[in-house]
Amino acid sequence: AEAVLRESEKLSAIGQLAAGVAHEIRNPLTSIKGFVHLLAQKAGDEDKSYYDIVKSELSRIEGIVSEMLVLAKPQAISYKPVSIQNKVQEVVNLLSAQANMQNVSITVDSDEGASTYGAPICGASQDGVPGARELFPMGDGNQLKQVFLNLAKNAIEAMPTGGSLSIRIQHLVDKVTVTFTDTGEGMPPDHLVKLGQPFYTTKMDGTGLGLVVSKRIISNHSGRIDFQSTPGQGTVVAVTLPAVSAVGSMEHSHLRDSLYSSQ
Ligand code: ADP
Ligand code: MG
Repeated sequence: AEAVLRESEKLSAIGQLAAGVAHEIRNPLTSIKGFVHLLAQKAGDEDKSYYDIVKSELSRIEGIVSEMLVLAKPQAISYKPVSIQNKVQEVVNLLSAQANMQNVSITVDSDEGASTYGAPICGASQDGVPGARELFPMGDGNQLKQVFLNLAKNAIEAMPTGGSLSIRIQHLVDKVTVTFTDTGEGMPPDHLVKLGQPFYTTKMDGTGLGLVVSKRIISNHSGRIDFQSTPGQGTVVAVTLPAVSAVGSMEHSHLRDSLYSSQ
């Protein structure tokens, strides 16, 4: 435990530095983007394509910087009950335009409605807060949404000429799994082992940080991510989160404690 503590202290010092640098890069970046945009409007046709490259590279820097900020900031998780289905739906809404453009169909199928006890759930979800008898992970809704966004984006990006992404949410006895299955290009085994290494990307405009961020968030939530892939056929990414069923008015902190002690 001591080694783990020392490791996390080291990480937090590096993290603070990285967060500071990322933050400082952001402001000049924003002004560069603004002026490039202005210049691009005045540019002749010939120069337009150069500006497009500049803009896309600036977006990439922006992506790296914002992912660095997520990684570097010690992520205080405010544990609240999270409706996974709501978060997944928000992500699907965000990505629907991109999916359409790429001829990718997205389906979401959830067993939300079956409770741990085999009885249907009576409490309806409101504002993302699950009903009283629902089974839910305790976690940070925004962070979990970020993970689902990263995974769904990767799936869509793996299907440049179309395909289907199916997202399946399953509530099990003490956990919730969210599975992303795509019919994309897939990965050979030697790529699979590199997933989650910082800056590992096979994309022209990739940051190679999406899975680093995602793995970090899921491990902070005491969950896990598993990848299975077949080149030419597609990829299955499964996120598993420990979940508890909300019984009556039990205190959330109490739920969280029992969540950890059962780990
Ligand atoms: P980025 O998307 O910026 O490249 P990520 O960390 O999200 O960074 O992903 C790293 C790499 O993992 C991707 O470049 C890609 O090669 C591979 N990858 C991730 N998800 C998938 C997927 N669903 N299908 C195929 N390859 C994937
Ligand atoms: Mg990605």
